[in-house]
Amino acid sequence: MQYRCFKCGFTDDIKRPLARCPICGGNMRILYDADEVGFKPDDKLPGIWKYTCMIKLPLTEAYSLGEGRTPLIRSFRLSRKFRVEKLYIKDETRNPTGSFIDRGSTVLVSMLKHFGYKRVFCEAKGNLAASLSAYSSLSGIKCYVKIRGHIDRGKLYQILLYGGEILSDERKIAPYYSVYPADPFLIEGYKTLSFEIYEDLEFKVPDSIVVPVGNGCLIYSIWKGFYELRELNVIDDFPRLYGVQEDVCAPLAYRFQNIDRRECRKGIAVEINERRPYMGDEAIKVSRDTGGRIVSVGSMDIIEALRDLARYEGILVEPAGAAAFSAFKKLLEEGEIDSKDTVVVLATGAGLKNPRSLVKALSSLEKSVMIGGTKKLILEILSRKPQHVYSLWKSLRERGLNISKTAVYLHVRELERLGYVVSEYVGRRKILKVSGKITCMKETED
Ligand SMILES: [Zn+2]
Repeated sequence: MQYRCFKCGFTDDIKRPLARCPICGGNMRILYDADEVGFKPDDKLPGIWKYTCMIKLPLTEAYSLGEGRTPLIRSFRLSRKFRVEKLYIKDETRNPTGSFIDRGSTVLVSMLKHFGYKRVFCEAKGNLAASLSAYSSLSGIKCYVKIRGHIDRGKLYQILLYGGEILSDERKIAPYYSVYPADPFLIEGYKTLSFEIYEDLEFKVPDSIVVPVGNGCLIYSIWKGFYELRELNVIDDFPRLYGVQEDVCAPLAYRFQNIDRRECRKGIAVEINERRPYMGDEAIKVSRDTGGRIVSVGSMDIIEALRDLARYEGILVEPAGAAAFSAFKKLLEEGEIDSKDTVVVLATGAGLKNPRSLVKALSSLEKSVMIGGTKKLILEILSRKPQHVYSLWKSLRERGLNISKTAVYLHVRELERLGYVVSEYVGRRKILKVSGKITCMKETED
C-alpha cells in the first residue's frame, strides 16, 4: 500500500501520516493494492476492523469503540408514502459518538498511535471534533480542538466530556498531529460504508445512494469502497452517487451545473455548509462518473425530511443527515430516481446533537397541527371546488358556520401564507384553490 497525490501523482510508502502532498499540497489517497486475500470480512474483529482485508495499513493495534455495522433499514412506511419499492436508510446515528465519522476516527487514531503521536489537534466543526475526542481518550492521545464557526451545543458537550480541550492558539501545544478533514486515513474508515451496504443488500449493488456533501470526503469514500470491490472483481457495476447540499451554501451543486456561485450563508445543516470543500473536485467527479448529480435542497425541506424520518421510521437525525432524504424526494419527483430503483439514503448524524434544529422541526409541526376547525373545513370545500371568497363564505354558512366575511378572508390569508392555498385571477375574480402541499398535510394527520 502507498500514498498517492490526487493532483501531481507523487507517491510514497506509508511510513508516516501524510495528510497532504509534500510537493503540491494536494489531497492524498491510499492506493488500493488488490491481492490474493480478496474481500473476506472477519466478523470476529471489532467494529469496522471486520474489513481489515480492505484496510491494509501497517498497524500495531486497532482502537475501536464498535463503530460501523449500523443497520440498513428497509423503509416500509416511507416507501408506501412516496410510492417506491426498495428504499433503505443506512442509520449512521448508531455509531458510538452518533455520526459516521467514527469509522474514520478509529483508523486515524490507531495509525497516530502506531506512529507514536501523543497529541492531536483539529480545527473542525462539531462531529469530527467530538469523534476524535472520544477515540483519542480511548487510545490515550490528548485531543485539542479549535472550534470553527458555530458549534451545536450537544457536540460541544461531547468534546468536553470525552476529554477534548478547547483552545484558541494551537501553537502552544506543539508537537502535535494536525487533522485535515480529507485525511487519507479517515477515508479508509469511511469507505467501509460501501462494504456494509453491499453485504446488507445480500451482495448486490444498489441503483443509487444519496449522500450529504460538505467537504466531499464521504461521497468520495463511498465511491472508493465500491471501486475497490470492483478491482477485486467482486462487483461489476457502480451505484449512481447523488450528493446533496443545502441551498444557502451549495458551491458544489452549482459547480456541477457549471455555475460559478460561491456565496455561503449558515443554514440549518451546518455540518455540510462548506464554502471551500476540501474534496470538491473529487465529489463532482465521482457523482458525474457514476451517472449521479449534486443537488441542493432548501432548509424547510430538510426540516420536513427530518420529521418524516422520525415520524415514519423512528430515526432521529440532525439536519445534515436529513438532507439526503430530502434530496431523495426531490430526485424522485424529477424522475431522476425511478420508483422501482433500489435506493440507499444515508442518515449521517444523530438528532440529539443539535437540539435547536429539533425545536425548529417541532415548531413547524405545530403550525400544521394548528390547522384545525375552520381552516380544515375551508380546505375541504376548496378541494372539492375552487371558488372565490364570497362563495366560500356562503358554503361555510350552509354548513352551519356563521362567521364574518373578514374572518374567512383572514383564514384564507393564513392558509396562503402556509402554502396550503393558492389563488389565480379569472377575469377580475380571485379564485382560491388548494395547493399540492395539501396532500402531505392530510397524510401527516392520518
Ligand atoms: Zn502532489
